[in-house]
Amino acid sequence: MKTSTYKYQLEKYTNPSSRYACPRCCEEHQFTRYIDVETGQYIHPDVGKCNRENKCGYHYPPREYFADNGMPQSNDFVMVEAKVRPMSFLPGHAINTNFKESNLYDFLCSHFDANDVDRVMKLYRVGSSTKWSKAVTFYQIDHWGRYRTGKIMAYNPITGRRIKEPFNHIAWVHSDILDFNLKQCLFGEHLLAGNTKPACIVESEKTALIMAIKEPDYI
Ligand SMILES: [Zn+2]
Repeated sequence: MKTSTYKYQLEKYTNPSSRYACPRCCEEHQFTRYIDVETGQYIHPDVGKCNRENKCGYHYPPREYFADNGMPQSNDFVMVEAKVRPMSFLPGHAINTNFKESNLYDFLCSHFDANDVDRVMKLYRVGSSTKWSKAVTFYQIDHWGRYRTGKIMAYNPITGRRIKEPFNHIAWVHSDILDFNLKQCLFGEHLLAGNTKPACIVESEKTALIMAIKEPDYI
């Protein structure tokens, strides 16, 4: 089936290397380039949009680029073959529920009752990973209980802070799976099925777990 679509689109996010340094503010991994959907090619390294809308605001659309360079404007719309790719889920062998093998577990147990930590980590179905020593895995499980992916992170067991040196310790369970069509969901989303408690959203998975320990009347 053919369908009409914009000829030039901002490149879809696949991994951090699909985001570039912004030509204006020079921030790494903040710049999204436009692609030609027919060829899959970039228009020009500077043709795109900075993610820092308020702090930078750089946006150089293809139309302006073509006008600036006296190039003929092509149609805004093209017909492309509709691609329907079903979303992917993690296979069972990629799921590890051994949360006690993580530094984050040790850290939480040094501040809270171990029974509470166990309860919350089971509830949020936290796992671990051998990617790095005692890394933790935060699975993203949707309201149907399907594992969309897992975010692997390393924490310092004493301070509970994320390990960012000599590099930022973050990885994804799905990244080793070929042709994986990732659709992320919120960490803890599986708890919304049949839920009657107020749901709160916080920035990090660690905060969600700590708040779930301290405020069990909320999701
Ligand atoms: Zn910028």
